[in-house]
Amino acid sequence: MSTPDCLFCRIVAGEIPATVVRETPTTLAFRDIDPKAPVHVLVVTKEHYADVATLGQGDPALAGELLATAAAVAGDEGLLGDGFRLMFNTGGYGGQEVFHVHAHLLGGAPLGPMLARSMA
Ligand code: AMP
Ligand code: ZN
Repeated sequence: MSTPDCLFCRIVAGEIPATVVRETPTTLAFRDIDPKAPVHVLVVTKEHYADVATLGQGDPALAGELLATAAAVAGDEGLLGDGFRLMFNTGGYGGQEVFHVHAHLLGGAPLGPMLARSMA
């Protein structure tokens, strides 16, 4: 179901423009407006889920379709050889800003350590 105030629901609906790189019946992949790497694509489900925890528990098959789309985009963008990072920011501590589940696909250069800060 679409959530009218949700930015990514509006992109899915075509109400806000985005640079779409892949579309399936259930998922959409588009370039991040503020890229943090040479390749930075967001992969979303067309159906609104707030985050990956809600999606993973609510519709595991759809979560798999999201991963399949991310893998296909990684191939299209030439990332499979050198590698890439796929991540879901979730909730406050995870730094999530848009509460419609999205995978960040990052690549095209070495991405450095997984987190800016170590536990030490
Ligand atoms: P997160 O912090 O994981 O919720 O990430 C939200 C991401 O959405 C950020 O990387 C933003 O740069 C990106 N973003 C925000 N608005 C847009 C937009 N209109 N089109 C594409 N990406 C966007
Ligand atoms: Zn939404």
